[in-house]
Amino acid sequence: MQIRFDDRVAIVTGAGQGLGRSHALYLAARGAKVVVNDLGGSIDGGGNDTTPADRVVDTIHRAGGEAVANYDDVSTPESAAGIIQSALDGWGRLDILINNAGILRDKLFLKMSLDDFEAVVRVHLLGSVYTCKAAFPVMRKGSFGRIVLTSSAAGLYGNLGQSNYSAAKLGIIGLMNTLKIEGKKSNIKVNTIAPVADTRMGARVFPDHFKRMIRPELVSAAVAYLASEACETSGDTIVAGAGFYARAQLQESTGVAFTPDTEVSPEMIAEHYAEILDMQGAAPHDSALDALKKLYTSVGGEL
Ligand code: NAD
Repeated sequence: MQIRFDDRVAIVTGAGQGLGRSHALYLAARGAKVVVNDLGGSIDGGGNDTTPADRVVDTIHRAGGEAVANYDDVSTPESAAGIIQSALDGWGRLDILINNAGILRDKLFLKMSLDDFEAVVRVHLLGSVYTCKAAFPVMRKGSFGRIVLTSSAAGLYGNLGQSNYSAAKLGIIGLMNTLKIEGKKSNIKVNTIAPVADTRMGARVFPDHFKRMIRPELVSAAVAYLASEACETSGDTIVAGAGFYARAQLQESTGVAFTPDTEVSPEMIAEHYAEILDMQGAAPHDSALDALKKLYTSVGGEL
């Protein structure tokens, strides 16, 4: 089976360089018509420039593909809606949304201004919310949608100096967890990539020998799969970098259950804390409802 995107229209946000550029070139090379969105700002979100998006569109055209540039900012509802409108104006449909745009404002939490915290949440988390909000009704109407969100190991596991980024990146997984449920009936699959790649963003972090291994195209291969008809799952978080691919997942331990009429004390929690933390036999839940059912039955409730 060859994965192709003929007749599919895709948006890639933040596609002027780095991972977004790679995703856009990858999808276009396999037949997608691509809206190359990028406002062309600095790594911390300052300024704007139309050149990065234009260059990517030019590269796609020279390779015989179809693309249009869009310079809107993902971080306001109006301009994010403008990105979706670009796809509709260009080709009258939208099938794929790759939410990739991002900025960094790293600082220790003690020293971080709330402005810096909010700016990062606005681009990563709210930017994903605003584009999804505008894309969802269009995809529902077409009974097809593939949305790929972008998280990070910093969101999944934490990273020094990135409280703003970590909060936004895990918030994105929360967004996915509910959109996967709400998109189900309309064949809208929502998945998340947690990438590692040599880009402007990674330049300060990774040593040179590692940079040569973390080619953005290796991430784009997984993004292209998640964006395709071949992908039938929803709600997956896929870690991808340097040719390594894995699933990251929230799980709940089997836990400890007292009967509901027990007067549970902090001392009893202390006594059983190792058992509560023990992840042997841990399992994920498909939804909050499933988690609630487990809790209820664990304490003797009958469904
Ligand atoms: P990058 O800085 O090379 O590219 C990000 C692009 O997003 C830039 O071209 C920028 O102009 C654009 N952008 C920023 N704010 C925007 C906005 N408001 N509207 C539209 N475009 C905007 O970074 P990258 O490494 O390619 O990162 C891409 C995504 O991958 C980000 O979400 C990032 O958090 C995530 N990520 C990257 C890595 C990595 O190793 N590079 C690791 C984890 C997560």
